[in-house]
Amino acid sequence: MMRATVMYGAGDVRIESVPEARIVERTDALVIVTHACICGSDLWPYRKLEHTDTGLRMGHEFIGVVEDVGADVRSVKRGDVVVAPFMWSDGTCEFCEQGLQTSCLHGGFWGGTELDGGQGEAVRVPQADGTLVALPLGRGDSLMPSLLTLSDVMGTGHHAAVVARAGAGRIVAVVGDGAVGLCGVLAARRLGAEQIILLGRHADRIALGREFGATDVVSERGEEAIERVLELTGGLGAHSVLECVGYEESTNTALRIARPGGAVGRVGVPQDAAMPAAQSTFRKNITIAGGPAPVRAYMAELLPDVMEGRIEPGRVLDRVTDLDGVPDGYRAMNEREAIKVMISF
Ligand SMILES: [Zn+2]
Repeated sequence: MMRATVMYGAGDVRIESVPEARIVERTDALVIVTHACICGSDLWPYRKLEHTDTGLRMGHEFIGVVEDVGADVRSVKRGDVVVAPFMWSDGTCEFCEQGLQTSCLHGGFWGGTELDGGQGEAVRVPQADGTLVALPLGRGDSLMPSLLTLSDVMGTGHHAAVVARAGAGRIVAVVGDGAVGLCGVLAARRLGAEQIILLGRHADRIALGREFGATDVVSERGEEAIERVLELTGGLGAHSVLECVGYEESTNTALRIARPGGAVGRVGVPQDAAMPAAQSTFRKNITIAGGPAPVRAYMAELLPDVMEGRIEPGRVLDRVTDLDGVPDGYRAMNEREAIKVMISF
């Protein structure tokens, strides 16, 4: 048996003994987890999940050491330190070829009732060749927090910036000051944005956002926030808007602060069936893009910047715990005591 995080319902996270992870398919790898995270998206079930007797295995962001590989695995070997994206993918299908591994025809999500999650001692990794990326270092390296963000939040913030067409000379607005929003600020600066407006209300997060490159902060909400962004952009709005929350109000704000011809990159998981601002986005020719970020596709581009210290997205991981501290880590993130929690095994 091994130990792993299991969620049984809202607010009910337990560390339990579960069956040992093992190779099942010839394309699998077995990874011993060394570092993992709790994600902002883990807080959705933490707040809303109906009680389940079987429980859900949790965690989709992890780094570990390859313990064993199936007979068909070629790209990683025993002893390699590897990072996993938040979904697994074969790397060879029509959509993986396009760099959209989140739509892989043979891929899927970690955890749940069938598979291991990252918040546990070991993980069976399906489609190891298409999923894992070997890292050029040993465990215990000080770059680990930043490398771990390539699993999700840094790649997700980057995706929002890319699909919102952030770049040189552009005014970028980032809606949300969670880990993804802060990484979105970092991504926008990395892509050369001229002005970066962060919409957020938590002092500690805003301070980090400024260090990541935010030039302006808007802490108002609703209509006042929209007015404030218009004031900061000569009345025109932002060229590129990153929606990093997923609520109706934040989506409405994001869509309405984009200037005519601008683009909105949505990476906050939508919590409502309908999208607001249908008329104004139509009238202004706003491009609405985004979805689950194909972080696997971005690893090659972002990895050198992390390795060489040009970006330090790991600073969003402002609390570290061991596996036993994971239930309290969920509580701390849910109560906004921590931005994002790293689990060190
Ligand atoms: Zn695929």
